[in-house]
Amino acid sequence: MKPVRQNVKFDKKFLDKDALKVVNTIHKAGFEVYLVGGCVRDLLLGLEPKDFDIATNAKPEQVHKLFKRSRLIGRRFRLVHVMFSARKFIEVATFRSGQVQTAKSGVIVCDNCYGSLEDDVVRRDFNINALYYDIHKQEVIDYVGGLKDLEAKEIHIIGKAKLRFSEDPVRMIRAIRFGEKLSASLSDEIKSCILDQASLLSNISPARLYEECIKLFQNEYSFKVYEQLEKYGLLKHLFKQTHKNDFIKKALLNTSARIKQNKPVTPAFLFAVFLWQAQNERFVMIKKKQRSFYLAMNQASEEVIINQIKQVSLPKWLTARIRDIWMMQPKLEKMHPKKVQDLLQNPRFRMAYDFLLLRSQSINPELKDVVKFWTKAQQ
Ligand code: ATP
Ligand code: MG
Repeated sequence: MKPVRQNVKFDKKFLDKDALKVVNTIHKAGFEVYLVGGCVRDLLLGLEPKDFDIATNAKPEQVHKLFKRSRLIGRRFRLVHVMFSARKFIEVATFRSGQVQTAKSGVIVCDNCYGSLEDDVVRRDFNINALYYDIHKQEVIDYVGGLKDLEAKEIHIIGKAKLRFSEDPVRMIRAIRFGEKLSASLSDEIKSCILDQASLLSNISPARLYEECIKLFQNEYSFKVYEQLEKYGLLKHLFKQTHKNDFIKKALLNTSARIKQNKPVTPAFLFAVFLWQAQNERFVMIKKKQRSFYLAMNQASEEVIINQIKQVSLPKWLTARIRDIWMMQPKLEKMHPKKVQDLLQNPRFRMAYDFLLLRSQSINPELKDVVKFWTKAQQ
């Protein structure tokens, strides 16, 4: 394979200083080292990269030795995190081949086979994500036609879609996300393969899908992602209890608007919205047998959450928040004069109020006066 090499000079101000330090140190030690993946793709498109990934021919132990503040992570794939603060690290991966070597017995003997730059290219997911940038030569290295695809705004998979999606079904939701993020079109092969194989997503661990869901919905284009996931039959493998309604649309658009304005967002709010209708339906059923309103609410919440975490796991703190938002809805709706101060002082008031507001603007227009009441009460 002969790569296309293209000279590109990125403005230094768009390059992460810490990532540059890491690249320089590895380079000085005599290794091959590149920026790779999403950061190169985003820099070429004039977008601000979310993170900077680095690929090198240095082995993890060799990289680890170069940086005092670094640690080796991962059992399946060993990577190095170079720490810059409690929250910030730069990830360095050694070139590896996508092949998993197994013994005759089927036992994996080498899941961590290092390789060359060319091997590393073909284990990546899409052409647009397999671009390497050599900082010293100021050159993009493209083995698979990623530059052409970026230009044409097209997403093609590396290798055969059927195989690559069955190897790792998360690539299907990544394809959808990049399609919306970059306003790019998916190749016909990707489209038909997702329609065929969407159900493979249910083999992925709920913990991994939680991380992926945050990336899917906490961004500026989350409603479009939602619509595409639904269209391709992927949504039901993430949120089988969720069906599109105006409330969900409003909440996704609202989240995107908040992100654009640099306002904080929490996944608890969105997941509370996604599951609200299911919670309501469950509540109605349980209330027929259970006289206590409070106990019926509690039980409905519990059941809906238990059903959800079979698909996408939600951390404890998050489910606690979802329940708080839900349990406060009937309390806000009652507007009981004696409870007003208590509710206003509840640390979850703001979230529950925002939830109520979006309900009133979508599925529950009859709540407009209740919202007015709470808007005034806060002043
Ligand atoms: P973003 O950070 O904007 O979500 P990204 O492309 O950088 O997008 P990451 O999850 O940060 O995505 O992954 C970095 C790179 O690692 C990708 O660009 C791709 O080359 C490779 N990669 C990530 N996940 C996979 C996967 N499931 N299969 C194959 N390659 C992957
Ligand atoms: Mg990235």
